[in-house]
Amino acid sequence: ATPTALMVGTGRGAKMGILIKNGEVLEEVNDVKTVVMDKTGTITNGKPEVTDIVGDSQQVLKLAAALEESSEHPLATAILDKAKADNVQADKADSFQAIEGKGVEAIVNGQKAFVGNDKLLNDVKISADLENKMVQLQNEAKTVVFVGLNQEVIGMIAIQDAPKATSKEAIATLKARGLRTVMLTGDNERVAQAIAQEVGIDEVIADVLPGDKADHVEELQKNGKVAFVGDGINDAPALTMADVGIAMGSGTDIAIESGGIVLMKNDLRDVAKALELSKKTFNRIK
Ligand code: ADP
Ligand code: MG
Repeated sequence: ATPTALMVGTGRGAKMGILIKNGEVLEEVNDVKTVVMDKTGTITNGKPEVTDIVGDSQQVLKLAAALEESSEHPLATAILDKAKADNVQADKADSFQAIEGKGVEAIVNGQKAFVGNDKLLNDVKISADLENKMVQLQNEAKTVVFVGLNQEVIGMIAIQDAPKATSKEAIATLKARGLRTVMLTGDNERVAQAIAQEVGIDEVIADVLPGDKADHVEELQKNGKVAFVGDGINDAPALTMADVGIAMGSGTDIAIESGGIVLMKNDLRDVAKALELSKKTFNRIK
């Protein structure tokens, strides 16, 4: 009867767009205490858009677009789209260097240029005005990147990635089932808190470097079994580390490979459904 129950369970899941890739996760589901979620592309749409540019917008975009041409980060796509929409021709850049969790550096017109968050600034100083503006934008749930040349910031770009329409309901359901909900993100603390508040998540772990996500999952596992939901390259180790790894179908191949469950509809509400289905299936197998 065991394989039959598993087949029925997985078949039912597949009809709902929930792929249970390996039966092993089923054993863990009963004891899951915490659901940890990535932000970009998991809780949010993953389609960030430029909303504000501080500084000479043409100059800022020209330089930022030059730097982002080498990057596949969703923020890079947002900046390139904005440059295109505004008919801004990017400067020429070379010697690109992606700085994990921080941004991009390159040489533009023989000078060192950068685009990225405050961690990339090192000893580059910013004015109090600029800092106040940054805080204001971040409190509006906008990710802020600085654009600079020659150790000097020439402007800021604010980028917004709205929560999926169903994320709030999804999190309310998980909480109603007594699960602890946590957001784990590489984005800034203020932005993460603003999004968390919008969707009702009560715990935020922000400013996490890509290589450190799995370590945070391991830490959370001290309080019981953990399900991790993610979509990015940087989520793959956390998906593997978690007791139940749940990948978004829209995610990168490596995330999908690392997840034991894949949500084909990319709807966060399917996390609760997947847990429920797995529980039922497992209890039938037992
Ligand atoms: P996430 O968890 O949102 O996927 P990442 O680790 O990919 O986080 O990025 C964290 C932060 O690093 C971004 O919010 C941004 O501030 C900065 N960053 C990373 N890549 C870029 C880039 N190509 N351009 C500008 N900023 C970047
Ligand atoms: Mg993501």
